[in-house]
Amino acid sequence: AKTRSGRLVTKVIHSPTDSKPLIAAIEAGGTKFICALARAGGEVLDQTRIETRDPASTLSDCAAFFQKHLSEGVHPAAVGIASFGPLNLDTKDKAFGSIISTPKPGWSGVQLLRFFADLCHAPVAIDTDVNAAALAEERIGAAQGCDTFCYMTVGTGIGVGIVQAGRTLSSPSHGEVGHMRIPRHPDDDFPGVCSYHGDCAEGLASGPAIAERWGTSAAHLPDDHPAWAFEAYYLAALCNNLIYMFRPERIIIGGGVMIREGLLDKVRVALKEMMAGYALSAYEQDLSRLIVPPALDIPPPGLLGAVLLGEQVLETQI
Ligand code: ADP
Ligand code: ZN
Repeated sequence: AKTRSGRLVTKVIHSPTDSKPLIAAIEAGGTKFICALARAGGEVLDQTRIETRDPASTLSDCAAFFQKHLSEGVHPAAVGIASFGPLNLDTKDKAFGSIISTPKPGWSGVQLLRFFADLCHAPVAIDTDVNAAALAEERIGAAQGCDTFCYMTVGTGIGVGIVQAGRTLSSPSHGEVGHMRIPRHPDDDFPGVCSYHGDCAEGLASGPAIAERWGTSAAHLPDDHPAWAFEAYYLAALCNNLIYMFRPERIIIGGGVMIREGLLDKVRVALKEMMAGYALSAYEQDLSRLIVPPALDIPPPGLLGAVLLGEQVLETQI
């Protein structure tokens, strides 16, 4: 970095892995943004949590965090952004790297990639939060050694990240598996809560769908409530479709709803019945290995995923 007088200054942050390039990582979520300065590989040197408000205030807080480092001569070699979506990921589109249409007030059309590119003057990679989390699970979590795998989160919404050969399926667009149409449970006449589709997967099986159907928060329903059979059925239907479409070696299922004791097992049982043994490879017979919980909670997988996205953009530049 050059000072105004033109003298070269390099800020040294002491760490055992100093030779690895610096990455600015941003996990952009509906409730919080985590901004971090990290080494390639994931060692976090500094990070901050910013409450998500309107875009201008939120992004100006993000800018302040990175500017503090930039003004001290610490320049990231790349930026990785793991964001809530839907995102425009079409590199040929002038709106590449922006948020498409979201019910979050003010956020539709926000040019996330351009903002951080202008701020850091470095190449930027952007992907969905779930795709980024999938990359993190591959590097140090439950998908190590997998060539093709899926990462699903079941919380306020349902999102799925898909990785094949080390790359997320994200170009020119990322999937919207959470909004897929799935068969109804024979005893379910709930219309669904998705504001676009009503009874898509998210409309039937997200946390808010459970709360709306049963009149109380998913967190408060007892373990023996019929809600969990419905939930297992819908998540099994999603897994069934992912399996027949992508043949993943693993489907990691996390998110707030999956905290429920026994739910993952119920999904495995429902899935086994639903697939009826059709066309299953040897590894797909063992559902305890195929359908697994996430391994990562700390460090937050989205943030590590953002670092890995930054690494990928560096690799493509070499
Ligand atoms: P977000 O998708 O906003 O990141 P989370 O992944 O934390 O949110 O998921 C929040 C959802 O998880 C809420 O709908 C909540 O009701 C549900 N939830 C929290 N605890 C439990 C539990 N023990 N059993 C089932 N659902 C739960
Ligand atoms: Zn939908």
